[in-house]
Amino acid sequence: MIDKRLLDVMACPRCKGNIHEKGMFLLCRKCGLAFPILEETVPNMIIDEAWPLSKAEESEFRHDMKL
Ligand SMILES: [Zn+2]
Repeated sequence: MIDKRLLDVMACPRCKGNIHEKGMFLLCRKCGLAFPILEETVPNMIIDEAWPLSKAEESEFRHDMKL
């Protein structure tokens, strides 16, 4: 889980919009991007490495990426 206070100040790196935690991802619904959370606490906010939201949904918001 990402600290709620941290989530409040974090923004989507592409649109600067709000992000939400879902499963093992932080989601930006505006961009349709899912940023993987590594080791449960470290979000990877690199746009080029983000998953499409539809792919994250198909995977039930799980991924097997490690640091
Ligand atoms: Zn966005």
